[in-house]
Parts: sequence; structure tokens; C-alpha cells
Amino acid sequence: MNDANDLSALFERCGIGASRRTGGTLVVRSAIDGAELARLHETPEASMPEVIARARAAFQRWRDVPAPVRGELVRLWGEELRKGKADIGRVISVEVGKIAQEGLGEVQEGVDICEFALGLSRQLHGKTIVSERPGHRMMEQYHPLGPVAIITAFNFPSAVFAWNAAIALVCGDPVIFKPSEKAPLSGLATFRALERAIARFGDRAPEGLAQIVVGRAAQAEALVDSPDIPLVSATGSTRMGREVGPRVAARFGRRILELGGNNAMIVTPNADIDMALRAILFSAVGTAGQRCTSLRRLIVHRSVKDVLIPKLLAAYESLRIGHPLEEGTLVGPLIDEAAFHALQLAVAEVEAQGGRMLTGGGRVLADRFPKAFYVRPAIAEMPVQTGLVRRETFGPLLYVLAYDDFEEAIELHNDVPQGLSSCIFSNDMREVERFISASGSDCGMANANIGPSGAEIGGAFGGEKETGGDRESGSDAWKQYMRRTSNTINYSTELPLAQGITFG
Ligand code: NAD
Repeated sequence: MNDANDLSALFERCGIGASRRTGGTLVVRSAIDGAELARLHETPEASMPEVIARARAAFQRWRDVPAPVRGELVRLWGEELRKGKADIGRVISVEVGKIAQEGLGEVQEGVDICEFALGLSRQLHGKTIVSERPGHRMMEQYHPLGPVAIITAFNFPSAVFAWNAAIALVCGDPVIFKPSEKAPLSGLATFRALERAIARFGDRAPEGLAQIVVGRAAQAEALVDSPDIPLVSATGSTRMGREVGPRVAARFGRRILELGGNNAMIVTPNADIDMALRAILFSAVGTAGQRCTSLRRLIVHRSVKDVLIPKLLAAYESLRIGHPLEEGTLVGPLIDEAAFHALQLAVAEVEAQGGRMLTGGGRVLADRFPKAFYVRPAIAEMPVQTGLVRRETFGPLLYVLAYDDFEEAIELHNDVPQGLSSCIFSNDMREVERFISASGSDCGMANANIGPSGAEIGGAFGGEKETGGDRESGSDAWKQYMRRTSNTINYSTELPLAQGITFG
């Protein structure tokens, strides 16, 4: 299934065959079996100023292309992604180990955001505002902002670029993409689809409109520090955000930070337990627990715990763990050895912090895949929300906490440093409404009777607290990619001052 000829043909079809053979210093391995997939040439740090200058020059032209014409470019990109969906989805599976359905779903998010951005390209409008002065009118306009840097994490190597780039491009902004060093091939395949769209769009697209930079933190830092990049959209760990945030702020740039999560589900006494069970399974073990929105904390009422947990353990028993492209597999590998060690560290801490492992946590399939890291998804019961539970461990480890009183559940829910996604399973309208109210979940996303992961592109995506506080993708997230001007127009023959001031 990872046959060398097949892979070569796949990479050729995605337009990344040549990049693979550049014999550079960035070694890319498949999460499936640890096999080397490519040695990529890294963009030299010394050439970063040129990259930024090209984007700057492209901006001078792109900002004057009418937005609906810019929309035509993302329409073409959406077409290319649709055509390449099976292949790009497969590259994602081969590189980061997502099961086939999840690889395809990720490309579909790209298609969806292109369609959203196309519609948006005719709706980038501001308000008309009444003036206090006679013969005056006020209005606001949204103008293109400038080059946008898009720095992405390994776990959504295609979709996060598409979310940002589709919106940035219709907003009139050139893009510079720095994919994760752990998943550059998926990023390149998605970027090649954009390049094909640009080729079809012809000379209406200026040179340098979309660029990709292959490398690690150093290349990203050049973008973070450049005053010629007015917006840095960075997705990754809270550790990364702590470095990027202050650096962008120091030069008064804008940032969109999409950082770690510690997402919970509250299961109340009258929840539909079977539905909750299915939602827990998808959100806790899907993508091997490596989604920023993965379910990490299950806050369950004591009266339903003894019904729910045995069912959950039985479901975990039957989970098929294995090669992500084999039929029936639900759990693929972790990204790499470091992720495996981080998980082992957390599992070892469970007992030390008064908890009890209920299942999983150990390595499996080491015989078949000695250079890759598959684990049995784990559940740990914790007596209280310890330091371990409050930290994001990026793998399939679910903590179970019991509660007696609904207020206590909400308190537990919010008592973590992160604030990305959340959900409640309840058929009690009061509990549901309370959970999504001002005094309920403090997360950027709060759901009822669905899990915390698998967001649609139509909503604004992002979270509070250490998750970064920003939003991307749908709703009005586009406003961050543009600059707003407020205009006052005087069509009278007088020059009245606001606030009734007389002068002279
Ligand atoms: P990471 O922080 O290791 O790397 C993310 C990106 O940041 C990479 O491209 C990396 O090269 C770059 N980077 C690292 N240090 C940098 C620095 N000092 N300056 C500039 N760039 C730097 O994250 P990862 O391991 O790839 O991804 C997993 C993490 O991402 C998890 O914490 C997960 O929750 C988070 N994540 C969040 C979202 C979200 O939308 N909130 C989405 C996906 C992943």
C-alpha cells in the first residue's frame, strides 16, 4: 500500500515529484511506517527578504483587482482541489497517518472554504452610518491589508492553509505559506493545486501572489518579525504562540493565533448515552487524538458514569488500530516518536497524580511497524482535575472526571488554561442553554449534543485563553484580513464641526 512506485506516481500527480528529489536537509518520513518519503530543499533564511519583497510587490497589483475577480481565482482553486481530492487526501494519509476518510475530509474542507470565499468576494462590505452633521454621510470600507504569513501545524497540513489562503486571496492579500516541517508534502500538494489555479487564472495574478517557504521555525520567524507582513496567522502549540504573539505585537502587526486545546464534554443524567458514546469515540480517538479539538476531558454525572464507562471501554476494545489506508481502520499512528514519548509521560503521571488507567496507552504493532508509533487509545479516571489534566497531551488519552452538581461541572469545565472547543450532552433545555450562555462554557466553540471536533467551515473557528483568542475560517473572520477605513463625506456647502464645536 506504500509501494514505492505507487508513491512516486502519486507524488507526480500532485506535482510534488520534483520537490521530493531536491536532496535537501529536511527529511520527511511517513507516520505510517517511518519510511523516508523525501529530502526537501529548505528555503535559505538569507532569501526570506526576497520572498517578502515579492509578496509586497504582488500586493501593489492584487489589491486593485476587483474582489469578485479575485473570487474567480479561489473558484478555480476549489476546482483543482476537487479534482485532486483523492490524491491529496492520500498524501495526507501517507505523510501524517490519517485514515483515508479523514484525509479526504481535510481536502473537502479546502473545497468548502473556496466556495465560501467565492461568495464572500461579493460581500466584503462595510456599513453606511448616519452623520450628526447636516449634508454629511459616513461609511466604512474594507480594503486589502497586505501579505499574510500562514504558519501551520502538522495535524491539519492542508486545510488550515486553505482556510487562511482562500480568505486572504479574496480579501486582496498575497500569501506566504510555511507548512509544518513534519508535514511539508501535504502542504506542497495543496499549494500546487493553488499554483495550477493561478496558471489558469492567467496574468491577472501578479508574480509572487502565493509563495511557499519550506523549513522550520527559522523561516517562520523571518515572517513573524517582518514589518512588511501585516498579518501572521500561526497555528500550532501554545509554546509556539507564546513566542510568536509578543514578537508580532512588538512591531504592531496583527496576528491570528490558533493554539492548543483541552476540550471537554459534559454528560448529564438525562443525556442520550448512545449518541454521547458515538460522539466520544469519534472525538477522542479520531486522528489518533491529534486534533486541536480532540476530546480530552469527559465530565460525567456520577449517576451515569457506571453506565457510560463500561460501554465506552467495550467500544475502545473493538477499535481497529492499524495502517490508516486499510479498510476498517479507525485509529492510525501518532505523528512521530516524540509524540509517543509525550503520551507515555502522561500515562506514567496518571497514577502519580491519584488517577487510574482504565485502558490503553501502550504501544501496539511495533513488530509490523518498528519505526512508527501506534498506540492503544487510553482512558484514565481522575479524582480531581490535576495539573496533568489541565495540560494538553497531543494524543489519544481521555480523562474521566465525575461530578454531582451541574455548577460543579461547569466550573471543572472552565478550570483549564485553554479555551478552544466544548460540548454538552443533555436533553434538558435548561442545561443546554446554560452551557452555551455567558456563564457557561468559556470556549470559542460550545456545542450541544455533538462532539467538540469536526467543525464546519461556515463558523468562525478558534478559542479563548491560551488557545490564542483569535478566529479564522467562516462567519466574519475575513475582517482580520482587511483594513477598515471610516469615511465621512460632506455634500453640503457648510463646514460644521462634530460635537457642535465652533472654531473661529
Ligand atoms: P508546533 O507548535 O510544534 O509547530 C507549528 C508550526 O509553528 C510549525 O510550522 C513550526 O515550524 C512553527 N514554529 C515553531 N516554533 C516557532 C517559532 N518560534 N516561531 C515561528 N514559528 C514557529 O505544533 P505542531 O506539533 O505542529 O501541532 C500541534 C499543536 O497545534 C497542538 O498543540 C494543537 O492543539 C495545535 N493546533 C491548534 C489548532 C487550532 O486551530 N487551535 C489547529 C491545529 C493544531
